Amino acid sequence: MMETVDYLVVGAGVAGASVAAELADRARVCLIEQEEQPGYHATGRSAAIFARNYGVAAVRALTQASETFFKTPPAGFAQAPLFKPRQILEIGREDQLGALAASAAAAAGVLTTLSRSQVLALAPMLRPHSVAAGLLDPAAGDLDVHELLSGWLRLFKARGGRLMTGAALLELSRKDGGWRARTARGEVQARVVVNAAGAWADGVAELAGAAALGLTPRRRTGVMVDAPPGAVIDDWPMVVDADELFYFKPDAGRIMLSPGDATATAPCDAAPEELDVAVAIDRVLAATTLDIRRVRSRWAGLRTFAPDEHPVVGFDVATPGFFWLAGQGGFGIQTAPALSLAAAALIRGEPLPEALIANGVDARALSPGRLIPGSAAVSEMGDDIS
Ligand SMILES: Cc1cc2nc3c(=O)[nH]c(=O)nc-3n(C[C@H](O)[C@H](O)[C@H](O)COP(=O)(O)OP(=O)(O)OC[C@H]3O[C@@H](n4cnc5c(N)ncnc54)[C@H](O)[C@@H]3O)c2cc1C
Repeated sequence: MMETVDYLVVGAGVAGASVAAELADRARVCLIEQEEQPGYHATGRSAAIFARNYGVAAVRALTQASETFFKTPPAGFAQAPLFKPRQILEIGREDQLGALAASAAAAAGVLTTLSRSQVLALAPMLRPHSVAAGLLDPAAGDLDVHELLSGWLRLFKARGGRLMTGAALLELSRKDGGWRARTARGEVQARVVVNAAGAWADGVAELAGAAALGLTPRRRTGVMVDAPPGAVIDDWPMVVDADELFYFKPDAGRIMLSPGDATATAPCDAAPEELDVAVAIDRVLAATTLDIRRVRSRWAGLRTFAPDEHPVVGFDVATPGFFWLAGQGGFGIQTAPALSLAAAALIRGEPLPEALIANGVDARALSPGRLIPGSAAVSEMGDDIS
């Protein structure tokens, strides 16, 4: 039997789950996921950091607009805290002072400048020669991604939404002014298709006959190693190299490292390269006195970027009823509360919520039209179901 809904959301990562939950408040929504479980790709592989000084200005606005949700989620949303404070310490050698100054300028007062001795007092595992100065974000934090995704999926189901896993979208065709979708688990008819397919978003657009936007998935590697025996590491800051050539942070009693890699790749079930694992360890060994002997686990995930590194949120300029929620790069977790509200408003044809505008979120900076020369920045194709 063909299922008929108002909105079909493609992809059950943090983007799809959050917008599906928002939309299900006032409409019939089906969320489809090609894998057997939600969150299998980028969402399940992140470093789970909330960093206010990350990304371009449009991303910072979205991060800022998401902060309250993480710190005080709606009653009943989560079964554990979503946010746990963790300072972020960006460090630079003499030759990286320019990079540190650029970070400080972009962060507009959010970060505190630290001397070498202040950095070493906060992070005594660093070798003195690897630090000339630092920048501290005292108000950053770890996010509980599992709890966040579960919260949105619970809300979605409570609002009557239907999640189908193992349901890859295979074909899209126009039907009665909307869409008919063939999936690996049957057919769905919907007025609007929401493309939240992460690394696969350009491919899903092609199924709809829409032009690809030049989204690039970039592989990033994570490595988990043991903490020094007997050391209490839980309150260590996250330490980030000024050129993002490495970072490390405590994670459930162990230490997560990354070489900060960003290798362009085709959409896939990303796996770590041995060279990237070795580079991560080498760089952390060079900058610290940590004694890394054993790798407990390693993984890689895809961070998918638009050419200007803004997310892409809005109706396609040439394909009616096809909505983009993609290009969340390395910030899709920390911006998900604001992005889902922005996306739901634009899909319904409503103005952005005041709280987003007050934090500087601007629909024109997110619109797919900005990536297509000569098209209007914001498309006027809002849906008026509600
Ligand atoms: C190593 C690493 C560290 C990161 N650290 C952070 C961090 O500290 N903070 C932060 O905010 N962000 C971080 N990120 C980025 C963050 O993980 C992503 O921006 C975010 O998870 C993107 O969510 P998404 O839902 O768009 O993508 P995904 O989670 O990849 O979800 C897309 C889903 O669409 C599904 N799909 C695709 N095609 C189809 C189809 N045809 N039919 C059905 N389903 C389909 C996929 O199976 C997938 O589950 C990190 C990422 C990585 C890899």
